[in-house]
Amino acid sequence: MKRETQVVVIGGGVVGASVLYHLTEAGWTDVMLLERRELTAGSTWHAAGGMHTLNGDPNVARLQQYTIQLYQTIQERSGQDCSIHLPGGLMLADTEVRMDWLRMAQARGRYLGMELELITPSEAHDVFPLLDPQYFVGALYDPVEGHVDPTGVTRAYVKCAQQQGAEVHEHQPVVGLSQRPDGTWDVRLESGESVHTEHVVNAGGLWAREVGRMVGIELPVLAMEHHYLITEDMPEVAAQNARTGHEMPMALDFAGEIYIRQEGGAMLMGTYEQACVPWSPRETPWDFGSQLLAPKMDRITPELSVAFKHYPAMETIGLRRIVNGPFTFSPDGNPLVGPVRGLRGYWVACGVMAGLSQGGGVGLALAAWMTAGDDNDTGMDIWAMDVARYGDYATLAYTNAKVQENYRRRFRITFPNEELPAARPLLTTPIHDRLTAANAVWGATFGLEHALWFQRPGLEPFEEVTFRRSNAWEPVAEEVAAVRERAGMTEISNYAKYRVTGPGSEAWLSSLLTARMPAAGRITLTAMLNESGRIVGEFTVARPSEADEFYLFGSLPAEVHHSRWFRHHLPADGSVRFEVLGLGLTGLSVTGPLARDVLAAVAPDLDLSTEAFPFMTFRRVDLGMIPALVARINYSGDLGYELWVAPEYQAALFDRVLAAGEPHGLRLFGMRALMSLRLEKSYGTWFREYRPIYSIPEAGLQRYVKLDHDFIGRAAYEAELARGPERRLVAFVVDPEPDDPADVIGDEPIWHGDEVVGWVTSGGYGHHVGQSIALGYVPAALATPDGPGASGFEIEIIGRRRPARLQPEPLFDPQGLRMRA
Ligand SMILES: Cc1cc2nc3c(=O)[nH]c(=O)nc-3n(C[C@H](O)[C@H](O)[C@H](O)COP(=O)(O)OP(=O)(O)OC[C@H]3O[C@@H](n4cnc5c(N)ncnc54)[C@H](O)[C@@H]3O)c2cc1C
Repeated sequence: MKRETQVVVIGGGVVGASVLYHLTEAGWTDVMLLERRELTAGSTWHAAGGMHTLNGDPNVARLQQYTIQLYQTIQERSGQDCSIHLPGGLMLADTEVRMDWLRMAQARGRYLGMELELITPSEAHDVFPLLDPQYFVGALYDPVEGHVDPTGVTRAYVKCAQQQGAEVHEHQPVVGLSQRPDGTWDVRLESGESVHTEHVVNAGGLWAREVGRMVGIELPVLAMEHHYLITEDMPEVAAQNARTGHEMPMALDFAGEIYIRQEGGAMLMGTYEQACVPWSPRETPWDFGSQLLAPKMDRITPELSVAFKHYPAMETIGLRRIVNGPFTFSPDGNPLVGPVRGLRGYWVACGVMAGLSQGGGVGLALAAWMTAGDDNDTGMDIWAMDVARYGDYATLAYTNAKVQENYRRRFRITFPNEELPAARPLLTTPIHDRLTAANAVWGATFGLEHALWFQRPGLEPFEEVTFRRSNAWEPVAEEVAAVRERAGMTEISNYAKYRVTGPGSEAWLSSLLTARMPAAGRITLTAMLNESGRIVGEFTVARPSEADEFYLFGSLPAEVHHSRWFRHHLPADGSVRFEVLGLGLTGLSVTGPLARDVLAAVAPDLDLSTEAFPFMTFRRVDLGMIPALVARINYSGDLGYELWVAPEYQAALFDRVLAAGEPHGLRLFGMRALMSLRLEKSYGTWFREYRPIYSIPEAGLQRYVKLDHDFIGRAAYEAELARGPERRLVAFVVDPEPDDPADVIGDEPIWHGDEVVGWVTSGGYGHHVGQSIALGYVPAALATPDGPGASGFEIEIIGRRRPARLQPEPLFDPQGLRMRA
């Protein structure tokens, strides 16, 4: 066994094995995997082996697609049988709403190149005769679904990696990790010896928390108990196999919260039961090995009784085996992948709940990230799996609450306007009670509560969940009208805020950001790129004075993601200090044509005239008695101010603005109205229009770039600008179905003629302009209204192709006169 290696992967489950394989594929062959017991001795050995492509996030779906396609390759190269079965799969809908969901899934699949087919209950019965069609309204058939042997797959990955030079050692528990001053790691073994390495990968599966604790971090991972049953051989299965000549497809039955598939001549059926139970919620015992948990059949009785109705033959057949085993989940059910902030060379690949669907993609993404380095483009968008999507709020108890919620909802629809209740409220700002008293309907992002909209007095602050327009429609329309016609106030504490100080701050920010840094008292909008010119951040930068002090405002869910990047690039000489301000700075936004009159009443001594306080000004001023940072900028695209204050002043400021606004008809508004307002201006938003798969020329953000300085990604930007982008972000006006109007929610396919040419990034209804709006990416050749894209676009909304026309300029105030007024 070597004592020096470039990478140590801790954990020989399907995920660790995949990471090892993909590292060798990427050319890193001096790599080692250490497994505590035998390979697969965590959750992998007892997995049911099922795999499928569909995922709520198209980027994760792409990686699942990749995983399934990979099995043939590793089986052939390793000579290890993976027992690959691809009989296809059915998703069974019992309600019209679920059918809508399937229609949307089918549509999303179109731009991923998936051939998904909607079929009737009797067609479903034809291919899966165990089901009783009376309980279903339809199904979605995916030909690329199936199952593999988890142990075979793990061994195949490992053998392929070994062929390239990787070392694999079983019965080598890692008992500790320590980092040397140069950032490299000593991986301590039970024997007392250690291996020195540059990179450590935590693929500890059931023990990922423990391997995290070895370096002082608490990863948001929790294991849940999970049951599946294997029946005796069934004559119905044999008959169907004989009739069709092939294996029966798998089936996902949403109403029964059941998955069911053929296993030899029998059936395997598992359930995500409502009475779910976490396993070892605080720590995973080290002496747990290839063992199972005692079955608790009473826990799954309600789901079984639905299954017996839906699949009557299952009620009478005997059981050959009952499996109850634990496996891990993150709070939202997606994996945790990537580098951990502040810990150079420590990477995670854990919380992988569907290792057989996702393990390949996780390994590919992590290996690409490690070998290319953080600055480089991996060509993948793995935000949905990035460990940085959780902050310090994701404690053990938070994770416990969210994982249970997610497990119970595994087969439930989460609507685009749905806010899940577990672990809430957690983070709140000082005006939370005031907004509640104003009948706010709450949402939460990154643990922080924010007002979505305000219900009318006397009505319950509750939003119906739907794919269509909800009961929020009218109140949000009124909020938008107040902003466009008079004035509105909303809370903006749910932005990420950073402060950069020190003599090197301007030069350092300039080296990372595309715009020229603002002069004293000014604001600039900017992007942050990786070496390949892809957008890794989008910020407002503001400088209150001549001093070396800059404020950056960005997207809250990206707070850890962005601060990881900033910290990674900090100069070693101490000339720059980077702080995450979090709720140390809280904000209110006052906007609308009368916003200046409102603010003038709060701060009569302040000259707010455009001459004295023009658009894009940023100053430290007193608003009456309240010290504040005031920005003349607004995401609504109207005259407006962002007011930033220390949290202890926020309630007082709120009261004063509300009182000053009353004679002007000021109204509180929430995030839903703000989204409608920004769509009318075609403003993009982080994680939707701007993500690390898009570039500046594609996103049309050239105005964010000043080529008077060097910055990461500049060369790639200039090269792309010279050759022209292949796709472009555009806005559409969509004609919704008149009798059943629904707006886009994101991820819908964009058709041109009979071809899917792009996808929607976000959209909704512009209440002031009275139009349904969609933003999305299409081939550059189609992106100009006087080119071939002049007509012929359609956007598929809930299974219906609706006419859409390019909207080259913002629908509201295209010249931007209102915000400058
Ligand atoms: C009943 C059941 C059914 C399932 N069905 C499916 C399914 O149909 N499809 C699907 O995709 N997924 C399924 N899963 C989930 C699947 O099992 C997991 O997604 C997968 O096993 C995760 O793999 P992993 O490598 O992350 O973790 P693990 O398999 O837990 O592997 C982690 C490995 O790390 C080792 N390790 C930990 N700490 C150390 C240390 N300090 N030193 C050395 N080694 C260490 C462990 O011994 C272990 O071998 C199922 C799970 C269960 C329980």
